Amino acid sequence: MSRSRVWHPFTQHAIEPPIPSIVSTDGAWLQTNDGRRILDAISSWWVVTHGHRQPRIMEAIRIATGMLDQVIFAGLTHQPAEQLASALIEMVPPGLDWVFYSDSGSTSVEVALKMALGYFRNIGAPRSRIIAMEHSYHGDTIGTMSVGARGVFNAAYEPLLFEVDTIPFPAAGREQETLDRFETLSLDRRAAALIIEPLVLGAGGMLMYPAWVLAELKRIAEASGTLLIADEVMTGWGRTGTIFACEQASISPDILCTSKGLTGGAVPLAATLASDAIFQAHYCVDRKKTFFHSSSYTANPIACAAALANVEVWRCEPVAERIAALSARQAAGLQRFQNNPFFTESRANGTILALDLRTGSAGYLAEIGPKLRAFFLERGMLVRPLGNVLYLLPPYCITGDELDGLYDAIEEAGECFGSRS
Ligand SMILES: *Cc1c(COP(=O)(O)O)cnc(C)c1O
Repeated sequence: MSRSRVWHPFTQHAIEPPIPSIVSTDGAWLQTNDGRRILDAISSWWVVTHGHRQPRIMEAIRIATGMLDQVIFAGLTHQPAEQLASALIEMVPPGLDWVFYSDSGSTSVEVALKMALGYFRNIGAPRSRIIAMEHSYHGDTIGTMSVGARGVFNAAYEPLLFEVDTIPFPAAGREQETLDRFETLSLDRRAAALIIEPLVLGAGGMLMYPAWVLAELKRIAEASGTLLIADEVMTGWGRTGTIFACEQASISPDILCTSKGLTGGAVPLAATLASDAIFQAHYCVDRKKTFFHSSSYTANPIACAAALANVEVWRCEPVAERIAALSARQAAGLQRFQNNPFFTESRANGTILALDLRTGSAGYLAEIGPKLRAFFLERGMLVRPLGNVLYLLPPYCITGDELDGLYDAIEEAGECFGSRS
């Protein structure tokens, strides 16, 4: 076989072990071309919600391909996009009345930032400053890197990134510092929007903060007229226990980004939902106020059909019960690690469990990361630590036994690689 010419994402090919080739997927499992089965404990980078190849979603894709493929979405529309928009508006927190489609989480965030700046320009009160939270992640494009944490991931591109204001992560006991800092920044007349990952900061290390902080951030934003952008690309579709994380704080953001679980993880699609005020600021006979954005594959009909089927799954199957059961198991799993000397900061939110391995080196480039990944892969488990942060973010179909196997393996990893407190 000739050498692969594929350049993989976030992969240092000089040290990467041989890359398994996956031939099929089913539920929580991946099957390799050499007959191994791998338990997907991270939902293939957080996209798969119910399980791989969810039957209703796959069937909807098959049916859609009998009718439609990509159709230009400027000046034309189609039923899958129309139906999905109505369904989404019913599922997100109230007050989000307009749906703008794109094709990835990063793009949905770029769209959100552009909507925010467009809003202020069009209402004649230009504001352009974005406020972001320390340790946050919003994507890998130039704009989304700009509003995300700076570090080894984006050091080379730093000269291209725009400046933002940051608020500290609301660590336990220090939440007021975050709120005070935001209050100060939001009073600056240039403050356009605060962008946040509600309740759980994913790529920044599965950092979690309580719903009341989110509610306070919303209150402060509203008082100062700063828009609130909720990046629910990872947290959406049940990950934190509710369909969207914002529900837990009973808040409505001005703009909400969703992607990953939008199609259940089957095909790429994203949506940015906006309040009527933001739409109305762009609604004008003056063509200069148009929202100038498009992706070639905006509202791909096959992807919209997959997302509609995902909504059907939520409506017709006991998804909430599955999530509750998985969340209860993860909470019990958490108990198991709370007194384990090799781990610290064990935490859980909904279906997500995370813990930090005590080790000499921390941070994303910690040597331990690749070693842990290999350790789990040898045991037929796909676990991809963020440096020394181990987490399980499984598809909702995972069984109790499968989870127990993962907890056992984590315990073993602690003994192999951890240092005692
Ligand atoms: C994954 C992620 C993104 C980027 O989504 P892509 O589809 O990879 O572009 C943005 N925000 C959050 C919170 C994410 O987890």
